[in-house]
Amino acid sequence: MVSKENHEKTAGIYVHIPFCLRKCPYCDFYSITDISLEQLFFDSVYREIVMRSNTSFLFDTIYIGGGTPSVVAPENIGRLIEKLHHYYKISPEAQITIEVNPGLVDFKLLSKYLSYGINRLSIGIQSFGDENLTFLGRIHSASEGIKSITDAKEAGFNNISLDLIYGIPGQTMEDWLLDLSQAVAFKPEHISCYMLTYEKDTPMEKRMREGEFQPLPEELAGNYFSAANDFLNSNGYSQYEISNFARTGSDDLRSLKSRHNFKYWSFSPYIGFGPSAHSFSGDERSWNHGNVLKYAEDIKSDILPVADTEVLNREQKILEAVYLGLRKTEGIDLKEFKNKFGVSFREMFINILPELIENKHLEVSKNRCALTSKGMLFHDSIVSMLVDEDI
Ligand code: SF4
Repeated sequence: MVSKENHEKTAGIYVHIPFCLRKCPYCDFYSITDISLEQLFFDSVYREIVMRSNTSFLFDTIYIGGGTPSVVAPENIGRLIEKLHHYYKISPEAQITIEVNPGLVDFKLLSKYLSYGINRLSIGIQSFGDENLTFLGRIHSASEGIKSITDAKEAGFNNISLDLIYGIPGQTMEDWLLDLSQAVAFKPEHISCYMLTYEKDTPMEKRMREGEFQPLPEELAGNYFSAANDFLNSNGYSQYEISNFARTGSDDLRSLKSRHNFKYWSFSPYIGFGPSAHSFSGDERSWNHGNVLKYAEDIKSDILPVADTEVLNREQKILEAVYLGLRKTEGIDLKEFKNKFGVSFREMFINILPELIENKHLEVSKNRCALTSKGMLFHDSIVSMLVDEDI
């Protein structure tokens, strides 16, 4: 039987819940700790859902992120999902994810999420070591992290993703491998491994600048990345994007990947609701005000709360296709590239490809061009080399 999704253009929905119990010192996502604005936010987001509902897309992913979605009243999340179903065509097979933080979830709350149709959990474990969690300024302990996973399984979630962070000052290779093995022991469907980065003007970046601590040398962080790849590969997980691994051995690997995030890396359209959320149509990208009050004020005046819009020109589209395509282990589809941009990838980058191939940073087959695992370590600099070419 041909599925309905084959006939309609699909897209994703992202909802940004901008509240956190406490701000982590390394984080530069838009979030606030003033939970008294929760109802104003939800009333506004419900209206934004109506305002943007003139679309013919079939939505096959919903991603509720933040911020910390698990900090708000679950009934608001249930109502949010109901509204999305009411105003948009949501595929019956949609992957519906919510990000949750340990310390804020229990069996009862997670069971409610399940009853709202949420079928995937992304748990911000970050580390199973209390020292690391303290350094990161997380609100939870290692044992609360473990409890959130067992509660999720007990509640009936069968698609769970765990977020881990590596490259934390003081973290040894043994610590990192221990984090990975503890994660794998729970057999989650998905694991994301992010390197700790010091975003400009975050409290952690300031502390580093002031010499309060030394960041892990880049080379060591690179070793941790390679170690994660090797460890997860040999423990039944396959890397499909620089930071993301899905459990292998399933008939349906697609359902174990983050289908929503895959849209970002594949240049697929999505609509974003909530302050600071981005929307992308394929040609145009826009983003909402990163301030709940300004966001709510615009919506109250029946204005879309858009801070800015950019229409991508051909050059920007090529740049993004290369940047995002090379994040995926499947790489760039060369036929698709030629159809889209009217020029062959090989011809466009003829001056630089031989060197990258010789250094074993990149592989080009008949249909695809992808970074090797070694090349993934240098993703950003390789992309800069490519886009410095005359496109
Ligand atoms: S919980 Fe997540 S979104 Fe909130 S401050 Fe920490 S890292 Fe940022």
